[in-house]
Amino acid sequence: MATPSAGTYRIPYQSGTNVEVTRDHLSHEPPTRIDMHGVDGDEPYRIVAAADGVIRFLVDRFSEQRPDRTPCNNNYVWIEHDNGEWTKYSHMRHRSTSRDAGLAVGDRVRAGTFLGFEGAVGCAHGEHLHFEVGVPIDPDDPIDDDGFLRGGSARNRIPRICGISGQTFVDGETYRAASCTPVVIVPTVVSFGSVRPGTSSRRTVTVTNLSGRDMTLSLAASPAGSVFQWSGFSRRLHQGDATSIQVTFTPRSSAIERATLRLTSNAAGSPHTVGLVGKGVGGFPTPSEVSPAGGIRQEP
Ligand SMILES: [Zn+2]
Repeated sequence: MATPSAGTYRIPYQSGTNVEVTRDHLSHEPPTRIDMHGVDGDEPYRIVAAADGVIRFLVDRFSEQRPDRTPCNNNYVWIEHDNGEWTKYSHMRHRSTSRDAGLAVGDRVRAGTFLGFEGAVGCAHGEHLHFEVGVPIDPDDPIDDDGFLRGGSARNRIPRICGISGQTFVDGETYRAASCTPVVIVPTVVSFGSVRPGTSSRRTVTVTNLSGRDMTLSLAASPAGSVFQWSGFSRRLHQGDATSIQVTFTPRSSAIERATLRLTSNAAGSPHTVGLVGKGVGGFPTPSEVSPAGGIRQEP
């Protein structure tokens, strides 16, 4: 029995595309690999990278659909990920990786980077994506001349997929492709630094919807009299759209001040929080020494 992947991967289709799994890790032959195809969304369906990584192999010169023939003459892309796992994307359309996506071997891609159009090139009975996660025996010689993982499905891992039940694809189910980070907030901590008491400093927070569907985003207005001020709102964001929030800080003293923006949405991870910190000029310490740690997650 294969083990689940170490990494968590996104559904490898453009966000918002509905994708039906027709062969899961149990029913696919050989096992532990996945077949899926777009069923609703913008056509031609766009295949995207399932995680950040580097393109190690790229074949897209073939154009013929030739099920059950040898050799398959598949088009495929293999991406190596930092965790040692590799992902494969097969049957994409002729030249759609090199020409339409403009990619080449050695290119670094992000989760969600366009790789090419869903196709039926090679050993395919219809338009679909063959997807798999594997750990090569030898990363310097991972695949054979036909693009297949050396060592066979014993080297495969069951893909763990974010945002779906049990993180596991199930035969016959339809899923909506989305980013693993459905709501991207930049920055996640806003530091105003030192501001002269009685004057105001303004910062902008940007929120992007990568959930794959329309999102309703709401924020209650700042409390009356707070040194941090922002406007409340409730707005609808389409997949891929961003909105900005202006926050002003008007210190009254040299004290260190903190607050939290609490955004609510219908996306996973709600409420989404943003830390605010600042202080008035004078006194000790400076805000940079007391700012909470905060990372910025971003995805194209
Ligand atoms: Zn397959």
